[in-house]
Amino acid sequence: MSEHTSPDPGLIRRLIDTVAEAIIARAGELTALDQAIGDGDHGLNMKRGFEAVRAAADKIAAKPPAEALGAIGMQLVTKVGGASGPLYGTLFIALGKAIGATPDFATAFARAIDAVKARGKSDTGQKTLLDVLVPVQRALAAGGPDLPACLSAIAQQAAEATVPMRATRGRASFLGERSIGHMDPGARSAAIMVAAVCRVLGS
Ligand code: ADP
Ligand code: MG
Repeated sequence: MSEHTSPDPGLIRRLIDTVAEAIIARAGELTALDQAIGDGDHGLNMKRGFEAVRAAADKIAAKPPAEALGAIGMQLVTKVGGASGPLYGTLFIALGKAIGATPDFATAFARAIDAVKARGKSDTGQKTLLDVLVPVQRALAAGGPDLPACLSAIAQQAAEATVPMRATRGRASFLGERSIGHMDPGARSAAIMVAAVCRVLGS
């Protein structure tokens, strides 16, 4: 993953297409999760955002990786809406800035997660997308064999681990105890994105 220093438009294009396809295909599932503990718009929000990213994929993939990530983030900020739009937008924009500043992708990812925490005034344990991003970053930093398959599995387990959590940030927190017993929609969308990235990098 340290290959970000040598731009590969083909790889960026495959990443964009695969992540966008995965999110768009799972919009119904994300909506159902958000219907249980939110307002039911997460699937549609994410679908709208990634349709915009996909529509701009030619232009985005032609940019250097740092700028491509920033452009993806801007699309998500402006098109996704809800709480998740600014948060995912921040993740990609901050990641773009960070990979320009550090050669280590895991460190850059940690910085981007810190930007999401600052934006959301949130941290792990609150039943949000951070409960997937943080363990994935930790596993990435630790490294090891077969990393893409490993990160994909960690992301899925981490999303499942939000089921027994009580939400203390975002709309689901309004439900208090009743948020327990459901997977967080943002955690699920984050796991879908991680799995899609890992599929491309592992192939
Ligand atoms: P909204 O909640 O405005 O309807 P979405 O449904 O698109 O927006 O996104 C909801 C998801 O956003 C939640 O499942 C959660 O993962 C994430 N989220 C909400 N608020 C925060 C926050 N303050 N910090 C981190 N993630 C958050
Ligand atoms: Mg919602």
